[in-house]
Parts: sequence; C-alpha cells; structure tokens
Amino acid sequence: MVLVKTSLCHVPGWQQQLASSISDPAELLQELEIDPGLIPSSKAAAAQFSMRVPRSFVSRMRKGDPNDPLLRQVLPLEAELIRVPGFTEDPVGDRFAQCAPGILHKYYGRVLLSVTRACAIHCRYCFRRKTNNTKVHTGMKEWQQTLNYITSDTSLYEVILSGGDPLSLSDKRLSALLMELDCIPHLGRLRIHSRQPIVLPERVNNGLLKVLAQSRLQLVLVVHTNHPREIDNDVRTALSRLEQIGVRLFNQSVLLRGINDTAETLAELSESLFSAHVLPYYLHILDRVCGAAHYEVKEEEASGILRSLRQWLPGYLVPKLVREEPGQMSKTLLV
Ligand SMILES: *Cc1c(COP(=O)(O)O)cnc(C)c1O
Ligand code: SF4
Repeated sequence: MVLVKTSLCHVPGWQQQLASSISDPAELLQELEIDPGLIPSSKAAAAQFSMRVPRSFVSRMRKGDPNDPLLRQVLPLEAELIRVPGFTEDPVGDRFAQCAPGILHKYYGRVLLSVTRACAIHCRYCFRRKTNNTKVHTGMKEWQQTLNYITSDTSLYEVILSGGDPLSLSDKRLSALLMELDCIPHLGRLRIHSRQPIVLPERVNNGLLKVLAQSRLQLVLVVHTNHPREIDNDVRTALSRLEQIGVRLFNQSVLLRGINDTAETLAELSESLFSAHVLPYYLHILDRVCGAAHYEVKEEEASGILRSLRQWLPGYLVPKLVREEPGQMSKTLLV
C-alpha cells in the first residue's frame, strides 16, 4: 500500500484509487455476480500471493462470467496451489545478475532498475509473484550506490525503470530519481516498464506528465496489456496525454492460456493498441514460475498462433514472440 495517512485532500486521486482496490476475493466475486462457491479456494490461493485489483479495472470485467479474460488475470485460483515439475521460484535467474542494490545488468548498453516491489495490480502469472508481495520502495540512500554503478559504466545508454511497477513511486520520488539520471552524461534514454497507465489510468495525471516532460532524456514507456478489453476510454486518454509530451509508447504482453491464446484476440489487441498510439513490442512466453502452470501455452502452439497473426496484420503490428533464458545476452526470439 502506497497511501500515506494524511488528510485525504493532500492525497492524489490515483493514490486514493489504489487504497480502494479490491483485495478480498469474496468482494470481487460478489461485485461481479459470480458463484460464491469459488471463494474458499480463491482465499487459499490469495494467502500465498495476495489479490489486488483496482476498481477501474474491475469495471471493465463482464458480470457473471468466471472466465472473463480480465478477471482470469487477477482472481486467485486453486490451480495455483498445485506443484508442477519445471515451475520454480526464480525462473529467469534474476538473483545472479544483481550487481548493486535493485540493479539488473544483463544486456549490453542498458540496465534495469527495480525501484519498488509495489504494483497496483497483482497479476497471477507474474514471475515476480514470490517477491512482489512486499511493499518496499528502494530508498534514495540505496539508489546512491545504484547511481554510482551507472555513472561508472560509460557503455550504458539506457536505464529501464522496472519493479514491481515504477509508477507506484510518488511524483516526488520519481522526480528525484529522474533528476539524478539526467545528470549522468552518457545516458540518452529512459525507459519505464509500467502496467499502471492500463490498470490505473488515473496515475497519468498532470504531476506525472510534468515530471516526465522535465527530463532531458528521450522517454520510452512500455505498458503491459494482455487483452483488448483492457483498453477503455480512460486508458486511451492517459496514453494520448503521454504521447502528446513525446513519450514513445510500446506494449508487452504475456501469452496466457484462456486469456489471449488465439490469433483473433491478439490481432484485436494490436489494432486496439495502435489506435491508442501504442506499438506492440514483445509477446512473452510465460516464465515458469510456480503457481502459474495453468496459464502456460507451449512454444510450439505459440509459434503457430504467431504465424497466423502475421498473415492478418501489417508487420509493424506483430509483436516479437520471445522467451527469457537465464544467462543469455538478449531475449530469445522464437519463429
Ligand atoms: C528484458 C530485459 C531488458 C530489456 O530488454 P530489451 O530487449 O531491450 O527490451 C533489460 N534488462 C533485463 C534484465 C531484462 O530482463
Ligand atoms: S504489474 Fe507487472 S510486475 Fe506487477 S504483478 Fe503485474 S506483471 Fe507482475
């Protein structure tokens, strides 16, 4: 929880929205008029990785449909408790690449900073599901060590803010970090990986736009959308405002069983993104994190879906199908 208890009038709207997120499966199912029989198993799964979903995201779900593709991304299910061989706690080998607090330097020219573990939404398939439960932001003191690392490596051109969700940071903290990065002469680009413009479009407020517009760095925002119905009018407005201040917008998705595992859905997603100024970037094969096995689409099937997609869409609307392998110098491209 990011909300600091001060009088409500000082709390930005997006933080109020975060504070009123739904975290009880019973409440979510009731809101959506879905069979309460699912509650006990859902609560058991939520005890392992808590449920969290902003109300504006819930409002885009269909009532009475337990298979709604938005609901399926956030509702804890009994299947998560089943152990499946090959699904582990650290499927992408993150632990081996840390060279300063919160820094992952795996690829040439760019580093990934995990600036917070907090997310506005808890996606059940997330490879960070084992670590995202905590509410920790990295403090400015720890950042200093990270900033020293970036300053001393002149091969770095791009810093990627990731998490958790980096837009969970307040405008003030974000601004402080961006100002530090601005001062590192060899950096040219700042990339932010965030799901918030999609799941909590209120986050894209005047304060955030001001902080971003002040940076001298070229700005790239990679949002995370899995299904076309995630993009509603509020999301479109938020994305337009980002585009208007010169932020380049891309999207990454995870290929998820029962959610976006058809060429039809993915084609609709690409078109919907493009009409909102966003280009498809990556379509990730699920990372094999324990508790997420029921979302898996195997690589062979995934490649087939992508081949059909390519027949329907212009090349620039076809995402790159990739898998992350520990120890590689880039994501691994399939087909
Ligand atoms: C995915 C990833 C990146 C970004 O890779 P791009 O191919 O540039 O999008 C950078 N660092 C790490 C550790 C990553 O996992
Ligand atoms: S927003 Fe991103 S990091 Fe957070 S739970 Fe979802 S997929 Fe994971």
